[in-house]
Amino acid sequence: MEKRDYYEVLGIPRDSDKNSLKKAFRKLAQQYHPDVNKTPEADVKFKEINEAYQVLNDDQKRAAYDRFGHAGLQGAGGFSNDFSGGFSDLGSIFEELFSGMGTGGNRSRRQPRRGADLRVDIKLTFEEAVFGVDKELEVPRLENCDHCSGTGAEPPTTVVTCSTCNGAGEIQRRQQSPLFGTVITATPCTTCGGTGEVIPSPCTKCRGQKRLQVKRTLNVKIPAGVDEGTRIRLVGEGEAGQLGGPPGNLYVVVTVQSHQVFVRDQFDIHLELPVNVAQATLGATVKVPTINGEIELLEIPAGTQTGRTFRKRGQGIPHLQRSGRGDMIITVRVVVPTNLNPEQKELFRELAKTFGDETPGQQKGFFDRIFGG
Ligand SMILES: [Zn+2]
Ligand SMILES: [Zn+2]
Repeated sequence: MEKRDYYEVLGIPRDSDKNSLKKAFRKLAQQYHPDVNKTPEADVKFKEINEAYQVLNDDQKRAAYDRFGHAGLQGAGGFSNDFSGGFSDLGSIFEELFSGMGTGGNRSRRQPRRGADLRVDIKLTFEEAVFGVDKELEVPRLENCDHCSGTGAEPPTTVVTCSTCNGAGEIQRRQQSPLFGTVITATPCTTCGGTGEVIPSPCTKCRGQKRLQVKRTLNVKIPAGVDEGTRIRLVGEGEAGQLGGPPGNLYVVVTVQSHQVFVRDQFDIHLELPVNVAQATLGATVKVPTINGEIELLEIPAGTQTGRTFRKRGQGIPHLQRSGRGDMIITVRVVVPTNLNPEQKELFRELAKTFGDETPGQQKGFFDRIFGG
């Protein structure tokens, strides 16, 4: 593989000074370091950057490279493919490179933290989900301790700044790096555990934990139209934040019991309605139960077959957070009688005579086609 020009690799002009060389290298190294960049090219790219930097940062090698190109670095005193010298202090280089990137775990410990979100499951009856309901919920959550006002110190004592780290929460160590000069590494302070403060007399109620597990009763308004899996967010009803951070949210997750008769599909209600043979044949006005607990009338035309559907608009589930309701979809099921009294049996026999062996709707040649004529 042909080697790329080192200046091109680092994206700098040939007359760049050491300072801009270093800047360019750092920028690219942060971008392509295999710990950060997981693309397959990153590893190769990173080695290329590192090699270019090591050559151009060495006055002798740079002079040789400027005069003879890559050929000037071959052989004695030139650049070899052994990167071990270059990689030996990479550990500290990258500690330095990444310490400024704001990903350090100890650092965030001192910053206000938002409280955790909580989840409570609630089981509703079919009707409660359809029409909404006010529910009392028992929610255990962490709240700021009322005895110490969330400081963790027994009143009237107070929290004091950690003398080991002077409140920084970390101990900084300076080292000399051959590549970058002074390198600063930080480790969490063991005296205060990284919090930067010490509590000489911990609060007797929360034992210095600042927050307490409290069982709260919340009144939750469940809106009409919720369904299985609906999440209701109660802003700020989660756990208390830390170091002045805001509280988390509470999510109420809904489970709905199924109904004996009605089946829900989004905002529509399905109902299977049994009718008798006479109603289906002659047509009839039949009673239909609604989810409101009322009775509606439905006109079934003469000759209604089983499986035919009818729609009653606006008799479904109220839409969540907007007006209007879904529909009720009624599927007719024609029930063939099984327990006829003698009089009914006689009437059916009379009826049968008039039908003969003809079945309405049966296609002509039905049997012929099955038995091949
Ligand atoms: Zn400390
Ligand atoms: Zn307390």
